[in-house]
Amino acid sequence: MCVFCKIANHEIPSNAVYEDNQVLAFLDINPVTKGHTLIIPKKHYDNFLDCDSETVKHIHTIAKQLTLHYQLVLKPNGFNLLSNMNGAAGQSVFHVHFHLIPRYDENDGLVLLFNHDDSVQYTKAELNQLILK
Ligand code: 5GP
Ligand code: ZN
Repeated sequence: MCVFCKIANHEIPSNAVYEDNQVLAFLDINPVTKGHTLIIPKKHYDNFLDCDSETVKHIHTIAKQLTLHYQLVLKPNGFNLLSNMNGAAGQSVFHVHFHLIPRYDENDGLVLLFNHDDSVQYTKAELNQLILK
């Protein structure tokens, strides 16, 4: 059983901030900012691609409710909501989770760099291939 399944089963303790039959939200053990929260389905899925859309929808609803709540109690200036899929994207725990990260300013604990890559070019064929039909 994976570490987040154990947390969902209360076999490993966590600082839970929300729980229902399907979902658990708890504070990250190594927070990048105050309030850094992980939202997981109790059922194991490796990543958001495997996770059924109804569950993702429910997680999103809880993420919005927690965002509204944290706005009041933590008073951050923004939020990031993100989920890493696979090692190349930084996933280290292979039980789908969404990071809800309150942001205080650009110099807080989260460094999210969108480095413009000039080498990225598209041919007409590639642009066409990328359209979801
Ligand atoms: P990932 O890198 O997979 O997107 O994020 C995994 C997150 O899970 C990390 O931010 C890490 O700090 C957190 N984490 C890993 N193990 C535990 C744990 O046992 N308890 C809690 N609360 N968080 C954990
Ligand atoms: Zn699991």
